Amino acid sequence: MTFQKGDKNPMKNPEIVKKVSDKLKGRLVWNKGLTKETNESVKRISISKLGEKNPMKRPDVRKKFSESNKGRTPWNAGTKGKTSSHNKGLKGIHLNPKNEFKKGLVPWNEGKKGLQVAWNKNKKGIDLSPNNKFKFKKGHVPWMKGKTFTDEAKERIKLARLKQVFPTKDTKIEILIQNELKNRSIKFSTHIPLIGQPDIFIEPNVCIFVDGCYWHGCKVCGFDNALKEEKDRKITEILMQKGMHVFRLWEHDVMRDAVGCIDEIMDGKK
Ligand SMILES: [Zn+2]
Repeated sequence: MTFQKGDKNPMKNPEIVKKVSDKLKGRLVWNKGLTKETNESVKRISISKLGEKNPMKRPDVRKKFSESNKGRTPWNAGTKGKTSSHNKGLKGIHLNPKNEFKKGLVPWNEGKKGLQVAWNKNKKGIDLSPNNKFKFKKGHVPWMKGKTFTDEAKERIKLARLKQVFPTKDTKIEILIQNELKNRSIKFSTHIPLIGQPDIFIEPNVCIFVDGCYWHGCKVCGFDNALKEEKDRKITEILMQKGMHVFRLWEHDVMRDAVGCIDEIMDGKK
């Protein structure tokens, strides 16, 4: 027999396939023609295939067991309430996992060969060697790539960074407003679960936002954030539709005159 180039699978070669099938001709499947009535092996297999995986469910097996157990001391005899050494001195019991105790238990992975396939099976194309770690990054483009800043933009970013206030929990400006409200004994709650999460809410329907100049793109201070501006505008609109009085305070106004800001709100509320 000759292998042709590229013939990796001999079963694809018609010549070989014919030879193999000739060989198999005349062979009988071992259980061909046998039924459970005529053959003991077939009978056993057919019982086990009927879902009778637990032999203790079969009356004949149970009878055998109970007969062989007659006269034995139960494993927990006289050990009521005791949790340790429960098998101490109980010679009649086999605790070896391989003995009949385990009979009837179906292994968790029976018939589940597929579950034990290694995670990287069939993934020959992936090189997992440490030397290859950079290849994994293929397709990942750093956000800066291809972007250049004009001198003007660079200057603006520099300026913005200088003025930037990183908020902790309640920002400094929020606390200024909160303190002023406390001074006037005005009850309020903070960061309530309303759309846009107003920084301060006064019953029944006053929402106060204290907007940081940098983050919210305050044009007075030379910032610009069109996206945020649009988002803020929408939130204001929705809240107003819900019947809220919405006040937006700029950071620079609060810093300059928190008392005046509250005055304005109280006037506007009336
Ligand atoms: Zn501002």
